[in-house]
Amino acid sequence: MKTEFSLAQLADPDIAEADKILRACVHCGFCTATCPTYVLLGDELDSPRGRIYLIKEMLEKDRPPTAEVVKHIDRCLSCLACMTTCPSGVNYMHLVDQARVRIERDFKRPLTERVLRAVLASVLPRPELFRLSMIMARFGRPLAALLPTPKTATATPTLLRRIKAMLALAPGRLPAPGPSGGRVFAAQGERRGRVALLQGCAQQVLAPRINQAAINLLTRHGIEVVLVKDEQCCGALTHHLGREDDALARARANITVWLKEAGQNGLDAILVTTSGCGTVIKDYGFMLRGDREFAAAAARISALAKDISEYVGGIDLQPAQHHRDIVIAYHSACSLQHGQKIAQAPKELLSKNGFVVKDVPESHLCCGSAGTYNILQPDIANKLRDRKVANIAMVKPDMIAAGNIGCMMQIAGGTSVPVVHTIELLDWATGGPRPGLN
Ligand code: SF4
Ligand code: SF4
Repeated sequence: MKTEFSLAQLADPDIAEADKILRACVHCGFCTATCPTYVLLGDELDSPRGRIYLIKEMLEKDRPPTAEVVKHIDRCLSCLACMTTCPSGVNYMHLVDQARVRIERDFKRPLTERVLRAVLASVLPRPELFRLSMIMARFGRPLAALLPTPKTATATPTLLRRIKAMLALAPGRLPAPGPSGGRVFAAQGERRGRVALLQGCAQQVLAPRINQAAINLLTRHGIEVVLVKDEQCCGALTHHLGREDDALARARANITVWLKEAGQNGLDAILVTTSGCGTVIKDYGFMLRGDREFAAAAARISALAKDISEYVGGIDLQPAQHHRDIVIAYHSACSLQHGQKIAQAPKELLSKNGFVVKDVPESHLCCGSAGTYNILQPDIANKLRDRKVANIAMVKPDMIAAGNIGCMMQIAGGTSVPVVHTIELLDWATGGPRPGLN
């Protein structure tokens, strides 16, 4: 794609990066076929190619984004299916990240939306506030039925509609909090490795059993696990809201405490059980490439970050208790299959450890969770969830497995089949408790 940036514009490293990305696009449109919003809405401007044109125009003209541009960028799930499909290697992720930052900086959203985004950005990354909000939401749930339901998936959602979506996502009860930062879980038997486990923010409130399963499995196999003190939210939530300063501050804080831990006690890896977070931590090196103080450290942390399935794939797991009668529908989270290019490993691990694993039709399509997307764009998100649940039902599973808490909550909202994390199944297969019973 031909671009028309001036030399002065190209002196800005972000514009130079955008220029490189835009020039790689050959407008072939292959990406449109796998883009969930294009598949659903059929509008070229809701396709990757359409959005690339909108971003190009916005950056080249160096003008504040229009409401039209914002509408179509907001509808992008950042699922990155387009990056998997693109034959030219267009890095859509870095382009849309840049667009979101610019929108956040230069576009004045309506007051209610600004307030909602500010609340999400400050509550979700803080487990104690998030827990409190979930308790309050429990009392608000009966009111959800009184709030409006959508007419079409193309209507811009109102504040009430978004509040309804938030209430619908709140669980009926919350589990007891899991272990806090600063704890070290010793390896059983001879120590074969030492890892940090990301504590996460929403996940530690909604499903601490996931990290508990990871700790159980790892320690049982000779890996010491540390929950690093003073670790924060990885920044993914605010990063996707375009709040770059907040996301980068969190990244720097985490890099500092992780490197301190690695220097003092050694770390083989930083393990992540929420693939949405893993994708962003693996991108810290890029996000902080212009930061003289942190660039090298960020690249080192990105290299240490691993999805739990990647790391466990390298361990000789104890002989499995076979569950040949359990059919698992494996939901491939977008952040795992498109963001981190980990598509086969979790399925292979599950089937090697005794489960009957079924691929879900249209597995490349997002379930609609996408960070805060199911709150900010609830009508599109619900349509994607219903489509995902219908596809899952086709393989008649006993359980659904996924590697991302957002997907797990989203899918669980549309089915009565238990939704569990891949690591919970692997823990079960190697001596842990049966998941999906709590
Ligand atoms: S598939 Fe790639 S090269 Fe083709 S239009 Fe989409 S982003 Fe551009
Ligand atoms: S990230 Fe997903 S929703 Fe956004 S343009 Fe790409 S395929 Fe479409």
